[in-house]
Amino acid sequence: LTVALVGCGGGGTATPQGSGDEEAAPADSGKVYIVGTEPTFPPFEYVDENTGEIVGFDIDLIKAIAERAGIQVEIKSMGFDGLIPALQSGNIDIVIAGMTVNEERAAVVDFGPSYWEAYLQIAVTADNEDIKSVEDLKDKTVGVQIGTTGAFKAEELKAQGLVKEVKTYNTVDVIFMELIQGNIDAVINDLPVTEAYMARNPGKIKLTGEPFEGEEYGYAVAKGNKELLEKLNAGLEQVRADGTFDELVLKYFGGE
Ligand code: GLN
Repeated sequence: LTVALVGCGGGGTATPQGSGDEEAAPADSGKVYIVGTEPTFPPFEYVDENTGEIVGFDIDLIKAIAERAGIQVEIKSMGFDGLIPALQSGNIDIVIAGMTVNEERAAVVDFGPSYWEAYLQIAVTADNEDIKSVEDLKDKTVGVQIGTTGAFKAEELKAQGLVKEVKTYNTVDVIFMELIQGNIDAVINDLPVTEAYMARNPGKIKLTGEPFEGEEYGYAVAKGNKELLEKLNAGLEQVRADGTFDELVLKYFGGE
C-alpha cells in the first residue's frame, strides 16, 4: 500500500493523495513543510520529463517519512548552493538533495542519520584515453557543481597543483553536456549520479580512476529545530522497519 501511494505521490507539490495523508496528519494539519532540493541529481531528484514534476529516491523517501511523521510536505526546487542558506533564513524547512554530511555543513544545520553511502569519482568521455587516474588531471579542466563536495575536492586538487582549472556549474545536467561537447576534460561528481547520466547518454561517458573516500547523505533541518528533526527521524525508522526503504532502493537502483 505505502509504496504505491508514495510512488505516485505527485512530485512537485504536497497535494494530499487520498487516505494516508489525511489520517496521518491531524496533529499538524495546516502547516506545510517546504522541502528544498536541486533536481538535476538523478536518481535522487530529477524532473520527470513527462509530467514536469520533481521525482526520485529522495523525494519518495521524504514523502514516506512525512507521511509516517504526520506532516505535510511540498517540494521546492532551488540551486544547490542556496539550500543551506534557505534553511538558515527559514525559507525552507527541510533539505533533501543527496547532500553529504560534513563538518562545515553540520556546524550550521542539523542532519538526520545517514541514509545513503556514496563516493565521488572522476568521469570522462567514453573515448578518452589520457585520463586514467587523478594524477592525469594536472593539465586538465574539471567541471563541478557549485557548493558540492565534488567542487571542494576539485578546488583542493587545484590548490595542490593537481588540476589546472575548475569550472563551476549550477546544475549537473549542464556539466555532462559540457563534457560530451568537449568543453571540459573531466567531471568530479557523486558516483551513483554519474551512473545515471551514463545511462541517459549511452556510450558517451565513462568512469575512470578510483572512487574517492566515502560520503554519507543525510536530510537536514535548521540548526536547533529538534522538534522537526525528531519527527523525521522517527519517520525514517518506520520507513526502514516496514520495508518501504528497501522498496525505494529497488525502484530507483534496481535492488543495489
Ligand atoms: N553529495 C554532494 C554534496 O553534498 C553533491 C550533492 C548534489 O549535487 N546534489 O555536495
